[in-house]
Amino acid sequence: MKLLDHLQTELTTLDAQSLLRRRRTTDTMCAPRTQVDGKPMLAFCSNDYLGLAAHPAVIAAMQEGVALYGAGSGASHLISGHSRAHAVLEDRLASFLAPHLEQAQALYFCTGYMANLAVISALAAASKSSTDVFSEALNHASLIDGARLSRATVKVYPHSDVAALESLLCASNAATKIVVTDSVFSMDGDLAPLPALLALCEQYDAWLVVDDAHGFGVLGEHGRGALEHFNLRSPNLVYMGTLGKAAGVAGAFVAAHATVINWMVQKARPYIYTTAAPPAIAHALLTSLDLIQGEEGAIRRANVQNLIRQMQQGLHLHHWQLMASSTAIQPILIGDNARTMRIAADLYAQGYWVGAIRPPTVPVGTARLRITLSGSHTSDDVAQLVSAMNQLEAAQ
Ligand SMILES: *Cc1c(COP(=O)(O)O)cnc(C)c1O
Repeated sequence: MKLLDHLQTELTTLDAQSLLRRRRTTDTMCAPRTQVDGKPMLAFCSNDYLGLAAHPAVIAAMQEGVALYGAGSGASHLISGHSRAHAVLEDRLASFLAPHLEQAQALYFCTGYMANLAVISALAAASKSSTDVFSEALNHASLIDGARLSRATVKVYPHSDVAALESLLCASNAATKIVVTDSVFSMDGDLAPLPALLALCEQYDAWLVVDDAHGFGVLGEHGRGALEHFNLRSPNLVYMGTLGKAAGVAGAFVAAHATVINWMVQKARPYIYTTAAPPAIAHALLTSLDLIQGEEGAIRRANVQNLIRQMQQGLHLHHWQLMASSTAIQPILIGDNARTMRIAADLYAQGYWVGAIRPPTVPVGTARLRITLSGSHTSDDVAQLVSAMNQLEAAQ
C-alpha cells in the first residue's frame, strides 16, 4: 500500500524531529491530583483555571441536567435542539457581559473552535467579496482557520504591534474590516493591548473580535474576563468566551450586539449545521456561572494570583526563562524540541505533569514548557513543582 507507506514515512520524520504527538490517558477527574496511565501525578497542564471541572456543585448540576433534559439534544438549534437550558444560559451570559457590550446578546456553541469559525465567517459574509481580516501573529489555530474559512483577505500583523495594525487598517478599502485577536495568548500567557486595538477599530470602523478563552472566568474582579480587566465597552466588540476552561464544563459563546447575534443565527454555518450540545451541559454551566460570579470564584481567582507570584518568585531564573506573563499560563522557554521533551519527561518521571509545546503550535525554535496554575492548586503543590524544577536545573 503506497498510501500507507507514505504516511508511515511522514510519521517517522516527525518522530526524528521530536515532533510526534502522543496522548496520555487520565483515569480520574480533571484535578491537580490525578492518575495518569495508572500512575499518581501532580498536574500543571489543564486550562481548568478555577478547578470547576471536578467541583461537586457542577457535577451535581450536570446530573440534574441529565435527569431534566435527557442525554442528547436530538437536533440542531434551528430545527428542534434548542432547549430551555440553552436559552436560559444565553440570557445569563448576555447579562453577565452587559456592562461591556451595547444591547448584549449571547449565542452558545458546542466548542470554542466552532465559535471562532462561525464568528469570522459570518461577519465576513456581510460583504461578500470585500472583507479584510486583520489577524494577530500569535492567534489560536481556530481563529486562523476561521479567517481561512471566511475566504476574506487575511492580513497578519506582528505580535502586539499596534502601529503595524494601524498601517494595515489605514491602507484597507474593504467594506468590512475585522480585527481578530486572542486576549490572553494561549501559549505565551501575555495580554493583547486591547484598549489600543479597540481605539483603532472605532477609528477605522472595524469589528474587534476578542477570543477570551483564557480570560473568561479568571480575569476581572467578577470574572467577566478581559473586557472587565481593561474596562472596555463598545458596539464594535464581538466577544468569544469558552466554557470548557475556567468554567469547567464544555462549549463556548459569542456575545455581541443583538443585531450581530441575529445575523450569526442566519449565517453562521458552524452554528446552523451541527447538533446542539446536550442541554445538560448548558444546565451545568448555570452553576459554573453562579460559582464564577460568587464569593467562591473571587477566592479562587485570588488564589491563582498568589500562586503565580509564588512560582515567579520561587524559580531560580538564571537558567529557566520564564516568559513575560502575568496570567495563569506561565510558560518556560526552552527552544529546542528534543530538550523540551527531555525536561518534561524528567519532571513526569518525578510525578509532575506539565505541558510540552512544540511547533507548529508555537514558532520554530521556541518550544516551551507550558505550566498552568489553577485555583484548586495549593501553595504546597506549587512549592513542590518549583523545588523539583530548581533541582532539575542544577543537575543539567
Ligand atoms: C481552547 C481555545 C479555543 C477553542 O476552544 P474549545 O472550546 O476548546 O474548542 C479557542 N481559542 C483559544 C485561544 C483557545 O485557547
